[in-house]
Amino acid sequence: MMNKVVLPLGVYGANCVILWKDPQQAWLFDPGYDAGTILAALKKEDLKLGVIVLTHAHFDHISAVNTVLADQPAPVYLHAADVPMAFSPMNQMPPYASTKKPASLDITKGDGDTLTCGGLTGTFLHTPGHTPGSWCIRFEAENLMVTGDTLFAGSIGRTDFPGGSMDQMEASLARLKQLPDVTRIICGHGLESTLGQEKKTNPYL
Ligand SMILES: [Zn+2]
Ligand SMILES: [Zn+2]
Repeated sequence: MMNKVVLPLGVYGANCVILWKDPQQAWLFDPGYDAGTILAALKKEDLKLGVIVLTHAHFDHISAVNTVLADQPAPVYLHAADVPMAFSPMNQMPPYASTKKPASLDITKGDGDTLTCGGLTGTFLHTPGHTPGSWCIRFEAENLMVTGDTLFAGSIGRTDFPGGSMDQMEASLARLKQLPDVTRIICGHGLESTLGQEKKTNPYL
């Protein structure tokens, strides 16, 4: 049985997500801000990190990664296409500072690749549009997907930031629509939903 904790952090309320079956090998998504809150949540559940995944490069999703790593070393996965933006001085806005490239950064995963850690297998689906390297991570056995800023409950991520593309976003959403309705989605901001609910009510789908 999979456990989850969702922490909306920072001035934009970006969802930092912790998933685990094996408490010694938890998954952490988008440590965007306030490492103290993230580390306290890990400690409360007595968790060790197995892997960190950044759904995309934006500062509100990555800014706490190095502080978390100092306490909980783990490989950090980011799509290669988002690397130039992620660690550039342009990628900041107070109170966020620009992020140093983590030593454990792994950019080898591409579309369709899988990663198994702590009894959970995630598939990386490259879904550009919000950023060039946005991806959704799907846990097929658990009917769960972490969508970052590609898909929100009732909306989608903006495509008018640098590197964004509405054409790419439409293609990415068309792919996500093919997935089963029962798929629960944890979004980069806001509430959880299901793909079935979004297909019925989200005007962008
Ligand atoms: Zn974003
Ligand atoms: Zn965001």
